[in-house]
Amino acid sequence: MPSETRRGVIERYRAFLPVTDATPVISLQEGSTPLIPCPALSREIGGGFEVFAKYEGLNPTGSFKDRGMTMAISKAAEDGARAVICASTGNTSAAAAAYAARAGMECIVLLPAGKIAKGKLAQAFMYGAKVVAIDGNFDDALRLVREIGRGGRVAIVNSINPHRIQGQKTAAFEIIEALGDAPDLHILPVGNAGNITAYWLGYREFHALGRSTRLPRMTGFQAAGSAPIFHGRVIDKPETIATAIRIGNPASWDEARAALDESCGAIDIVTDAEILAAQRWLAEKEGIFVEPASAASIAGLLKCAGKDRCAGCPLPELRPGAKIVCTVTGHGLKDPDIVDHHDFRALTARPDRDEILGLLGLDGS
Ligand SMILES: *Cc1c(COP(=O)(O)O)cnc(C)c1O
Repeated sequence: MPSETRRGVIERYRAFLPVTDATPVISLQEGSTPLIPCPALSREIGGGFEVFAKYEGLNPTGSFKDRGMTMAISKAAEDGARAVICASTGNTSAAAAAYAARAGMECIVLLPAGKIAKGKLAQAFMYGAKVVAIDGNFDDALRLVREIGRGGRVAIVNSINPHRIQGQKTAAFEIIEALGDAPDLHILPVGNAGNITAYWLGYREFHALGRSTRLPRMTGFQAAGSAPIFHGRVIDKPETIATAIRIGNPASWDEARAALDESCGAIDIVTDAEILAAQRWLAEKEGIFVEPASAASIAGLLKCAGKDRCAGCPLPELRPGAKIVCTVTGHGLKDPDIVDHHDFRALTARPDRDEILGLLGLDGS
């Protein structure tokens, strides 16, 4: 028997997912990602809170998208699909391509040209997807995918596919099992809003079954230039350095609103500068390297602890000892070009011991 934690989310949570014996399980042993205690971050925000990072970058293709994709591709295989299609800001296409490859299916991905992080593009190509770059943004790509998918010849595996949300809710189950209860506050980046929808679904399901005593307050962060839910209107030309959340018209807008309202949560924005600072801070202080979109949740938590928090911010209402989980959605190596936005510079030296020691201030003086 495979161990409890390394067999993929469908086998681990079969009883809570819409699968049957007739569903071929297409898995890369996704899920069971670490919930890492963050003592430096806890100290930084104060208040006696305990902060954890749910490190979704350790999934097989480096983002949480694998949780939903194992479901979407397994169900597509059950339906006899030969090809799948998705629009993507990068990570959905990486996951779709990998799981389709494993299922022996063709995968077509529509991407906004020039707006996909290098690592993600490499993945789509390497896993053998047909990549179509369009002169438009994610929202344009998703509209086209809906039109193409309507013909019924290819299965859509974007988060408008309800199986994706089902698979992604397993992250909430894992957090409850790791903590012994739900956290008090859950913070995550919001793009197309599928993930906040999925977490809220997962938290409610385990709560209804008596597996947790509380429901977390859900708090989402959008990039300041791509914040349709925060502003309450579609953003025609979304912009942010965090390409995974560069979305102006989220597909799961209503569901995200419901999660925020029902959980007494909040939605707020963080600037690109705050995202970059948080990305670097988390890597330097906690040893966790995440992609820019993922750092939005950390930037958000730091903002909640500061003076310019949003009006409905739940943080000031939490008791000391409260547990806070930040989902960090994707691995830092996805987006290597981001280093150009940080002012890193290597020290240079001749291959000479004394010169190097001198340069480092280790020459005994
Ligand atoms: C997809 C993605 C998001 C946004 O998730 P939504 O479900 O679209 O809100 C955030 N971060 C990363 C790394 C992603 O891949």
